[in-house]
Amino acid sequence: VLLIIECVKAVVSPIKNKGELKMPLTFIPTWVNGFPQNAQAAVGRALTTWRNALASAVNVDITLVWGVNLPNNLTAICIPNAIENFVGAPLKNTWYPSALADKIRGQDLQGNDEDMTVFFDQNINWNVTANVPQQNEVDIESVALHEVCHGLGFVSTFWQAAWPAIGSYGGDELMDLVDLVVQVTGQQLGFPLYKLNRHPSVYGVHVRQHPGTYLTDPGQFVNPSTQLGSALVGGGLVFDLPARPVYAPNPFLPFTSIDHLDDPNSLMRPSIAAGQQTRAIDQPVLDIMRALGW
Ligand SMILES: [Zn+2]
Repeated sequence: VLLIIECVKAVVSPIKNKGELKMPLTFIPTWVNGFPQNAQAAVGRALTTWRNALASAVNVDITLVWGVNLPNNLTAICIPNAIENFVGAPLKNTWYPSALADKIRGQDLQGNDEDMTVFFDQNINWNVTANVPQQNEVDIESVALHEVCHGLGFVSTFWQAAWPAIGSYGGDELMDLVDLVVQVTGQQLGFPLYKLNRHPSVYGVHVRQHPGTYLTDPGQFVNPSTQLGSALVGGGLVFDLPARPVYAPNPFLPFTSIDHLDDPNSLMRPSIAAGQQTRAIDQPVLDIMRALGW
């Protein structure tokens, strides 16, 4: 059953005067598929944590989809809307999550579309209370905090084919997989799917070997190439300035490799186990969000 998602349109804010406006990051949620009230409250607490950590003059429109059957043992997944080459974009041919592009530009660039869609799996024993999760419960506030971080830009466009091990970024494989996930859930995104045009994300351009070169430096790595494929699983990858090790296992894991920190205590570690909670944003993650332009 396809739901028609009623998009809540953000009020278009005036172009900000640089350095004058310091507004909290306000989310406008659209709850889909019978999202329970207590689960809404728990996810809402995660949105408040982000609200208090970052600033923007433009509201973030977020669609939250309850109770879908996600493939590949996924607990939840966030698909960010994205835009490149908008007026005032700091980097050309580079994907920005639309929420960040709006913040940089100071206006809602895609006013009819949501900024991100988050899907929550139906087969999870969710803790939706403010209490510490039980050992057999997955804490939805922690997962929401993590997923929204992806939606705000903590995501690359890297991909590695299994064999031959060709590495790439911005290829069609990634969005084809997103499209498959969306089809499997039977729910819609709050925005049209887009092609990545073989371009990196603003997060991706910060990833480099340590010590070594940037993976998206065309003078160092051809896109696509086996050299890039080796680098994606070769270890020693960091998000630069300050250097933070990123999770880059061998074999490559779609949606997981590069897009997480290799730090068992960080909000952006690759997975949150049952019984765990991480309801705060650690400094390494905040540093990265600032580096992206927040
Ligand atoms: Zn994640």
